[in-house]
Amino acid sequence: MAKKYKNKINKIRSFALSLIFIGFVIMYGAIFFRENQILVLIFMTLGLLCIIGSTVVYAWIGLLSTRAVQVVCPNCGKHTKVLGRVDMCMYCNEPLTLDPTLEGQEFNEAYNKKSK
Ligand SMILES: [Zn+2]
Repeated sequence: MAKKYKNKINKIRSFALSLIFIGFVIMYGAIFFRENQILVLIFMTLGLLCIIGSTVVYAWIGLLSTRAVQVVCPNCGKHTKVLGRVDMCMYCNEPLTLDPTLEGQEFNEAYNKKSK
Protein backbone atom coordinates (compact mmCIF):
# COMPACT_ATOMS: atom_id res chain seq x y z
CA MET A 1 0.00 0.00 0.00
CA ALA A 2 1.32 3.43 -0.92
CA LYS A 3 1.89 5.47 2.21
CA LYS A 4 1.05 8.86 0.82
CA TYR A 5 -0.78 10.05 3.92
CA LYS A 6 0.96 11.41 6.96
CA ASN A 7 -0.07 11.97 10.54
CA LYS A 8 -1.94 15.26 10.65
CA ILE A 9 -0.08 16.78 13.59
CA ASN A 10 3.24 15.88 11.98
CA LYS A 11 2.07 17.34 8.69
CA ILE A 12 1.05 20.66 10.26
CA ARG A 13 4.30 20.75 12.25
CA SER A 14 6.43 20.35 9.13
CA PHE A 15 4.34 23.05 7.46
CA ALA A 16 5.04 25.44 10.34
CA LEU A 17 8.73 24.60 10.15
CA SER A 18 8.90 25.27 6.41
CA LEU A 19 7.06 28.55 6.99
CA ILE A 20 9.85 29.72 9.32
CA PHE A 21 12.39 28.65 6.72
CA ILE A 22 10.57 30.46 3.90
CA GLY A 23 10.29 33.56 6.11
CA PHE A 24 14.04 33.65 6.66
CA VAL A 25 14.76 33.06 2.96
CA ILE A 26 12.47 35.95 2.01
CA MET A 27 14.10 38.24 4.59
CA TYR A 28 17.51 37.18 3.35
CA GLY A 29 16.33 37.99 -0.19
CA ALA A 30 15.86 41.59 0.91
CA ILE A 31 19.67 41.95 0.97
CA PHE A 32 19.71 41.76 -2.84
CA PHE A 33 17.36 44.73 -3.08
CA ARG A 34 19.04 46.98 -0.52
CA GLU A 35 19.22 49.80 -3.12
CA ASN A 36 15.46 49.88 -3.21
CA GLN A 37 14.10 50.67 0.23
CA ILE A 38 10.52 49.93 -0.71
CA LEU A 39 11.42 46.42 -1.92
CA VAL A 40 13.46 45.80 1.24
CA LEU A 41 10.47 46.87 3.30
CA ILE A 42 8.14 44.58 1.32
CA PHE A 43 10.49 41.60 1.65
CA MET A 44 11.06 42.19 5.35
CA THR A 45 7.31 42.47 5.95
CA LEU A 46 6.60 39.29 3.97
CA GLY A 47 9.33 37.40 5.80
CA LEU A 48 8.05 38.62 9.13
CA LEU A 49 4.49 37.63 8.20
CA CYS A 50 5.69 34.09 7.40
CA ILE A 51 7.39 33.82 10.78
CA ILE A 52 4.36 35.23 12.59
CA GLY A 53 2.18 32.83 10.60
CA SER A 54 4.37 29.94 11.68
CA THR A 55 4.04 30.97 15.33
CA VAL A 56 0.27 30.98 14.89
CA VAL A 57 0.39 27.52 13.29
CA TYR A 58 2.52 26.24 16.19
CA ALA A 59 -0.02 27.60 18.68
CA TRP A 60 -2.73 25.88 16.65
CA ILE A 61 -0.85 22.55 16.81
CA GLY A 62 -0.69 22.93 20.59
CA LEU A 63 -4.43 23.41 20.64
CA LEU A 64 -5.03 20.45 18.32
CA SER A 65 -2.75 18.22 20.37
CA THR A 66 -4.91 18.72 23.43
CA ARG A 67 -7.94 17.63 21.41
CA ALA A 68 -6.22 14.67 19.77
CA VAL A 69 -6.78 11.22 21.21
CA GLN A 70 -3.72 9.37 22.40
CA VAL A 71 -3.65 5.76 21.30
CA VAL A 72 -1.14 2.94 21.18
CA CYS A 73 -0.38 2.02 17.60
CA PRO A 74 -1.16 -1.67 16.96
CA ASN A 75 1.60 -1.83 14.37
CA CYS A 76 4.63 -0.34 16.13
CA GLY A 77 3.39 -0.21 19.73
CA LYS A 78 4.25 3.46 20.22
CA HIS A 79 1.98 6.14 21.64
CA THR A 80 0.63 8.32 18.89
CA LYS A 81 -2.06 10.97 18.55
CA VAL A 82 -5.11 10.58 16.39
CA LEU A 83 -6.83 13.67 15.06
CA GLY A 84 -10.26 13.31 13.53
CA ARG A 85 -11.91 10.02 12.66
CA VAL A 86 -8.95 8.63 10.76
CA ASP A 87 -5.29 9.50 11.04
CA MET A 88 -1.90 7.93 10.51
CA CYS A 89 0.54 6.77 13.16
CA MET A 90 3.22 9.42 13.75
CA TYR A 91 5.98 6.81 13.58
CA CYS A 92 5.06 4.12 11.07
CA ASN A 93 2.20 5.76 9.12
CA GLU A 94 -0.17 2.94 10.01
CA PRO A 95 -3.75 4.08 9.32
CA LEU A 96 -5.67 4.33 12.58
CA THR A 97 -9.32 4.97 13.17
CA LEU A 98 -11.45 5.85 16.17
CA ASP A 99 -14.60 4.83 14.37
CA PRO A 100 -15.32 1.07 14.62
CA THR A 101 -17.45 1.20 11.47
CA LEU A 102 -14.39 2.19 9.47
CA GLU A 103 -12.22 -0.56 10.92
CA GLY A 104 -10.40 -2.54 8.26
CA GLN A 105 -11.54 -0.29 5.46
CA GLU A 106 -9.29 1.32 2.90
CA PHE A 107 -7.86 4.52 4.31
CA ASN A 108 -9.52 7.60 2.91
CA GLU A 109 -8.98 11.12 4.14
CA ALA A 110 -12.49 11.99 3.00
CA TYR A 111 -13.76 10.19 6.13
CA ASN A 112 -12.70 13.24 8.10
CA LYS A 113 -15.13 15.46 6.30
CA LYS A 114 -18.36 15.71 8.18
CA SER A 115 -21.17 14.04 6.31
CA LYS A 116 -24.90 13.89 7.04
ZN1 LIG B 1 2.83 2.95 14.46
